[in-house]
Amino acid sequence: MRVGGAAEWLLEPATPDELRRAVVAAREEGFVPRILGGGANLLVDDGVLPGVVITTDRIKRLFRPEIDGPNSVRDAIEMAPRMAPAPREEGLRFVAWSGVSMPKLVNAAAELGWSGVEGLAGVPGNVGGGVAMNAGGRWGEMWGVVERVLVVDEQGEFQELDRQSCSPRYRNGGLGAKIVVSALLHFDLDDPKSVKERGRDFLLEKNRVQPVTAWSAGCIFKNPDKLASGGRSAGKLVEECGLKGRVVGDAIVSPLHGNFIVNRGRATARDVFELIRIIRAEVADKTGIALELEAKEWRAEKG
Ligand SMILES: Cc1cc2nc3c(=O)[nH]c(=O)nc-3n(C[C@H](O)[C@H](O)[C@H](O)COP(=O)(O)OP(=O)(O)OC[C@H]3O[C@@H](n4cnc5c(N)ncnc54)[C@H](O)[C@@H]3O)c2cc1C
Repeated sequence: MRVGGAAEWLLEPATPDELRRAVVAAREEGFVPRILGGGANLLVDDGVLPGVVITTDRIKRLFRPEIDGPNSVRDAIEMAPRMAPAPREEGLRFVAWSGVSMPKLVNAAAELGWSGVEGLAGVPGNVGGGVAMNAGGRWGEMWGVVERVLVVDEQGEFQELDRQSCSPRYRNGGLGAKIVVSALLHFDLDDPKSVKERGRDFLLEKNRVQPVTAWSAGCIFKNPDKLASGGRSAGKLVEECGLKGRVVGDAIVSPLHGNFIVNRGRATARDVFELIRIIRAEVADKTGIALELEAKEWRAEKG
């Protein structure tokens, strides 16, 4: 969204083990580190953000694991990727480190004609953020392809979790404070043309209804419980309350989609937070529904 200030400390590990050691080092200094993926769902406060931010941006290997090798993310990250490409009909798995961009993953799967993430076409950010948030929408979600994840736990240890032991839900990977290092993803075999066409159709539809090229943090609010809202999405509620186009400073509720706040150029985090406060108050007042944030706030005072 391009609001917010600087991090007091920014650590940029380049490998899974450097990430683990960065977490341990931050904790030894008394900080609970914040993890920055692509920043596509973040609202960062103005000024200096106290404490440690760890970015996964340099941890960006995406590869096909050895087909006959150990079926473990932990082992896979320590192995060299295969030298010769395997036939696309074999394996049907990627190991994606957390800093791999979502568009890169979506394109790589489409090139092979592997189906599973084409529904995430146009979702920005990184794989780690996508797994942590269970990114998705009408056409699928991240955890639809996750077989296992490698995380760093609260003690600074690697831990491997399989799909069955995790409970991802709507816009929440269910991993709590665990940090996603890498994910083993599985796909269905299809043909490249069909996968690409589906991805393109989803992308066109997304571009039609969302302000995708504007500076935003994606959907600001989670969709409320359908029973309570009569099936209306958060964006629809905002629209019905006449809030589309409402402005604070340089932040505006997108005239295209009620669940997007757009930075018109010089918005501050303060503008965005105030606009969020107004939207929540008016929607609660008019509909009785308390909108819950989907985007994550990084407030300076929380450290
Ligand atoms: C134009 C636009 C369209 C969007 N469309 C969609 C959509 O259709 N569906 C959807 O779900 N989202 C959408 N989003 C939101 C965003 O793309 C997703 O939430 C994305 O998964 C965020 O990933 P990120 O890497 O940018 O995470 P960030 O924004 O960097 O972080 C988000 C949260 O995840 C945590 N996190 C990041 N990396 C890790 C990690 N490795 N381990 C643990 N926690 C981590 C952060 O600490 C933070 O709490 C959209 C955003 C934009 C700007």
